[in-house]
Amino acid sequence: AIILGIESSCDETSASICIDGEIKSNIIAGQAIHSKYGGVVPELASRAHQQNIIPTVDQAIQQAKITKKDVDAVAFTRGPGLLGSLLVGTSFAKSFALARQIPLIEVNHMQAHILAHFIDDPKPNFPFLCLTVSGGHTQIVLVKDYFDMELLGQTLDDAAGEAFDKTAKILTLPYPGGPLIDKYAQLGDPNAFSLPEPQITGLNFSFSGLKTAILYLVQAKMKENPQFLTQHLNDVCASVQSRIVSVLLNKLKKAAKQTGVKDIAIAGGVSANSGLRSALIEMGEQYKWRVFIPKFEYCTDNAAMIAIAGYQKYLKQDFVGQDITPLARMHV
Ligand code: ATP
Ligand code: MG
Ligand code: FE
Repeated sequence: AIILGIESSCDETSASICIDGEIKSNIIAGQAIHSKYGGVVPELASRAHQQNIIPTVDQAIQQAKITKKDVDAVAFTRGPGLLGSLLVGTSFAKSFALARQIPLIEVNHMQAHILAHFIDDPKPNFPFLCLTVSGGHTQIVLVKDYFDMELLGQTLDDAAGEAFDKTAKILTLPYPGGPLIDKYAQLGDPNAFSLPEPQITGLNFSFSGLKTAILYLVQAKMKENPQFLTQHLNDVCASVQSRIVSVLLNKLKKAAKQTGVKDIAIAGGVSANSGLRSALIEMGEQYKWRVFIPKFEYCTDNAAMIAIAGYQKYLKQDFVGQDITPLARMHV
């Protein structure tokens, strides 16, 4: 079966073709417009999706060397995300399915981030644990089957990606700051500045205190030395990153111990972080886990993960009707 996947939940317009479970194309149109605003502006995001969606889909179809007529079903991100952005992808998918008289498949974006692990080998075995760390979410999920997932813990305030992006803003770096902090952290000393570890019991997270601690640290240091940020940017980035990574992995270790599960995955935009990736590999060796880390192109938002999730639903004939509407909030 040939599935067209559509993703438009935030600020990436993406389209992908999946043929019998194999990804043949994954076109992603980003939106540079948000960088100067220090975050995604919803109104601008919807407009950019509207401009990008047709050329992005055309390119995905072309690159897969098929035609529109070959598509057997359309899978789209129903939520969670920005409603105006979701509406563009949803409306497009509905129109395409209606015009071609083919089935329509709704996909949960957070499930799709996890199901990106079924694009390439090696694939995890059920049940596995997934730490999903993205711009809007931080979750530890027990994945029992493709669409049977249990939320074991989540953030009580900011997401891990938000912690990176808000820290970057304090450091006067452009949005999204996560990749930049990653880059500078590689040149810095992770022990240069000590940052607090949030005291949250169980498997939940909190990152808002960290952001405040960094703000106070930078303010105090700048008072002493106005050149502080330019002179010590690498060390600040390395210290912040190392704290975020240690918080994430300590909880993941706890979840692995509690459940006895040894197939451990990470997913979402922050799973592209080099510090997180290398620390997880190290921890996996120590605890004899099988560790699963997505390819970079499948960490941040992409339609390949929507297409692969859609393919699994296609096999179950799990379709939706033309009355479907997007949802800004959706449970994993
Ligand atoms: P959600 O999936 O929760 O709806 P989203 O779709 O906006 O949110 P993603 O596209 O999955 O999130 O991830 C974007 C986030 O990943 C941003 O916060 C960005 O800073 C972060 N990110 C991307 N690359 C890196 C990196 N190398 N290091 C740290 N953070 C990163
Ligand atoms: Mg994005
Ligand atoms: Fe996402």
